[in-house]
Amino acid sequence: MASPAAVPQRQLFIDGEWRAPALGRRIPVVNPSTEAHIGEVPAGTAEDIDAAVKAARAALKRNRGRDWARAPGAVRATYLRAIAAKVTERKPELAKLEALDCGKPYDEAIWDMDDVAGCFEFFAGLAEDLDKKQNSPVALPENFKCHLRREPIGVVGLITPWNYPLLMATWKVAPVLAAGCTAVLKPSELASVTCLELGDICKEVGLPKGVLNIVTGLGPDAGAPLAAHPDVDKVSFTGSSATGQKIMTAAATMVKPVSLELGGKSPIVVFDDVDIDKAVEWTLFGCFWTNGQICSATSRLLIHTKIAKEFIERMVAWAKNIKVSDPLEEGCRLGPVVSEGQYEKIKKFVANAKSEGATILTGGVRPKHLEKGYYIEPTIITDVSTSMEIWREEVFGPVLCVKEFSTEDEAIELANDTHYGLAGAVLSADRERCQRVAEEIDAGAIWVNCSQPCFCQAPWGGNKRSGFGRELGEGGLDIYLNVKQITEYTSDEPW
Ligand code: NAD
Repeated sequence: MASPAAVPQRQLFIDGEWRAPALGRRIPVVNPSTEAHIGEVPAGTAEDIDAAVKAARAALKRNRGRDWARAPGAVRATYLRAIAAKVTERKPELAKLEALDCGKPYDEAIWDMDDVAGCFEFFAGLAEDLDKKQNSPVALPENFKCHLRREPIGVVGLITPWNYPLLMATWKVAPVLAAGCTAVLKPSELASVTCLELGDICKEVGLPKGVLNIVTGLGPDAGAPLAAHPDVDKVSFTGSSATGQKIMTAAATMVKPVSLELGGKSPIVVFDDVDIDKAVEWTLFGCFWTNGQICSATSRLLIHTKIAKEFIERMVAWAKNIKVSDPLEEGCRLGPVVSEGQYEKIKKFVANAKSEGATILTGGVRPKHLEKGYYIEPTIITDVSTSMEIWREEVFGPVLCVKEFSTEDEAIELANDTHYGLAGAVLSADRERCQRVAEEIDAGAIWVNCSQPCFCQAPWGGNKRSGFGRELGEGGLDIYLNVKQITEYTSDEPW
């Protein structure tokens, strides 16, 4: 007899109801810690996407009944707050599902759920503010009166990755709903479980049907038809740069706006005046948090040559002590990477680095005490040149590569030696130097004397091939709004 599923078995969430996928297919859910099959999620295809887009369109502006786009922001805010409250109520259960589905340490998944609830609350506030900003006047020459309306862009396609399954979806769902848009969410096939639970929460709080639709499925089968759907007004994507390019190409054929949050290869610059232990801790946290699978992971360490030897020694000792275990085990600091495919990919990156002449100081393999699971020990690599793949490409796993520098200018040049521009960090006791270096690094977010803390109150997004557009922050609604000017001629005289 098959063992009972460890995760809820749900259907697609379309028009406020659970619906079986048109082709009846399902995708296995694999626990990356045990490699066990723990359930399934539905595999939606173009037909399901079409049904979801139709439901979202109908919910946007109904002739009768509840109307999402034209409802006051304050009304939409009540739903967002209700969702936040439900997420908080179900926090331990949702965090456990996240740990089972993508291998995230339970404690980190708890933080994620706090951030999810906080993000819904934050955008509830912005939805209320939107009411105050409506009909704002613009000063024009005599005989003309003008005011501005901020109108929802329409139906938005949301395509999200697996590293923060519910949080990355929330970064899109919360502002989209606050702005008065309706949406079709296509989560990653590698971690869809908590996004389907969001559907359940929407049902529980009575979100009007069709406002949020959730279609799980493979990228080419469900993501591609969503990005190319002629009745989707905007696509908001978070994922790899390669997929982002495909999405932009599909959107370009219909002159459809896109927001792209893509990959990174972010630097952390450590000067010789730091408190070494504190700096080691931030450096390891900045690269190994979320099992190293963070878009903004500061995975290129630039260390001042004066302290390099001592810093690297302490860092390796510390890395060897990081608790690698099942994500549900107490004290787990590093769980498995998300899938067998990612596990193999990361091992190949490490093998290639070695064959190109780099030195693997620690890690690169599954820890000896774990016989199963897609685990990779925290990995630190030195003797790296700037032409090596390990320096240039995003690994998306617990792998840190290290280079030394002697001067501030050299550090800045090495930090910017990448086609990505998502994030960066600078650690130094000299705050003026930190400010100078922060201004010189070409990226959307720079951390000073820390790495990774991220708040929904501040805008988030990348430069260069890390994408464009900014999610979150005060302007986080604007990417889902069209501004309309209404200009009136107020004189009886001919113009
Ligand atoms: P991915 O590009 O493989 O997949 C992302 C999503 O796109 C998934 O839902 C997938 O099913 C879908 N998809 C795949 N092919 C598609 C296609 N042809 N058309 C439409 N959709 C398609 O990325 P991933 O492996 O899930 O996530 C890891 C990547 O995400 C990393 O590069 C990471 O840096 C990036 N990321 C960026 C941010 C950010 O804020 N910039 C945040 C998290 C993750």
